[in-house]
Amino acid sequence: SVEAETQHQLNVIFLPYPAPGHMIPMVDTARLFAKHGVSVTIITTPANALNFQKTIDSDFNCGYHIRTRVLPFPAAQVGLPDGLENLKDATNLEIFEKVRLGILMIKDEIELLFQELQPDSLVTDMLLPWTVESAAKLGIPRLYYYSSSYFSTCAKYSIRKYQPHKGLVSDTHRFTIPGLPHNVEMTPLQLEDGLRIESSFTEFFDAVHESESRSYAALYNNFHELEGDYEQLYKSTVGKSWSVGPVSAWVYNDDERKTNRGHKEDLAQESEWLDWLNSKQNESVLYVSFGSLSRLPHSQLVELAHGLEHSGHSFIWVIRKNNESENVHSFLGEFEEKMKESKKGYIIWNWAPQLLILDHPAIGGFLTHCGWNSILESVSAGLPMITWPIFGEQFYNEKLVVDVLKIGVPVGAKENKLVATEEDAGVGREEIAKAVVHLMGKEESRDMRRRARKLSDAAKKSIEEGGSSYHNLIQLLDELKSLKITRALDTPL
Ligand code: UDP
Repeated sequence: SVEAETQHQLNVIFLPYPAPGHMIPMVDTARLFAKHGVSVTIITTPANALNFQKTIDSDFNCGYHIRTRVLPFPAAQVGLPDGLENLKDATNLEIFEKVRLGILMIKDEIELLFQELQPDSLVTDMLLPWTVESAAKLGIPRLYYYSSSYFSTCAKYSIRKYQPHKGLVSDTHRFTIPGLPHNVEMTPLQLEDGLRIESSFTEFFDAVHESESRSYAALYNNFHELEGDYEQLYKSTVGKSWSVGPVSAWVYNDDERKTNRGHKEDLAQESEWLDWLNSKQNESVLYVSFGSLSRLPHSQLVELAHGLEHSGHSFIWVIRKNNESENVHSFLGEFEEKMKESKKGYIIWNWAPQLLILDHPAIGGFLTHCGWNSILESVSAGLPMITWPIFGEQFYNEKLVVDVLKIGVPVGAKENKLVATEEDAGVGREEIAKAVVHLMGKEESRDMRRRARKLSDAAKKSIEEGGSSYHNLIQLLDELKSLKITRALDTPL
């Protein structure tokens, strides 16, 4: 009966963190749960809902039990203009802090919604450590959601524990990360704030780690065949986890909505980029993007433009606009014109339909800032990478891509910094051109290309029936169902 079905149906709340790199994979995961029969609610704020509401509505109209609940964001109270809490325009650390405080301010409203909706489980972003208490109050499991590598977590835990970066003669001196299955070296300068030096982040990240160990399990946007050694190490040193990715390849399988994923407009409408790509030979174009947050300083944009041009290879480059001097725009405007004429380069301003572009046969490589979603999307498309990490755990991800998976060429990024300034040492045009020639020249990158294709096949298998991620998702949902039944039996009538 319908009643029996609803009694047994799992009811799961997803609470994402409002930055595109966190929001996008969690919304994909929520959609995946709904497609496997779960009743799903995504709790978010207006500027964030805007970017995926259409997708959720059309899933709902297809008969899936998925909806959003939108709570007002207290922008004025934290001193942020309306509509910026999606962090798409975060150009400084202050905005991050304001958004974090804003969410804490609506914690009571969020917890009231939890009570009203009576979920069987909470899937909440890693950056919302307080939700461990919310789940405890409701007597339900909290799943700690992390869209990044096991490698990054294992490396970070090892460095926190053994402090191999302390006492070196300089910040650019290499040390080996202890206790990993591979010999991987880093420099102190490549470590994130809060680990290399005490900062306002140290305490916050301590809370995040503590909440990770107290959560029921972790949910990773990942797949076993990609970094099984590190998944194993995570399970034996940190705790229980489930790998259910790559979620983008899974939910967007044959789904035309991948064109406006994470973006309110349908980007397929502007098909000039598609015509341009269609005119190019297979695997001849490099896709260049630094994700949703990172903006390069002017001097670095100039170096990158020259490096790309000098490489002689074709490229499609997504540039996030910033409110810097006119200089940047006049230089880039001229560069754009020049590239249009020579047909060597195509610039997309602000936001690109990344999944569509990566799947295009003309694309032969990805110059990436090593955000985890970009790496997984590159791997899913079978593309080798040029790695140019900027901040956070991106430097660990670079090591995974270059030293462990051996599907990337490092550009030589030296310093981990959320917002780089003109004064910071950047990457020079010669290094950039060299890396592009290495990756896009067919001979040198042949083995990398072969390995990337193998991983893409493995990714596709993992999400098919019988594959590792498929199996994990079914097992996880079964486990949540048994917990629900046990809870019902324990509740006095
Ligand atoms: N993305 C996109 N178009 C863009 C920039 C980013 O579709 O122009 C998507 C990209 O496909 C990925 C996410 O936004 O899914 C960015 O996440 P990632 O982890 O790569 O980097 P972050 O933005 O968190 O630094």
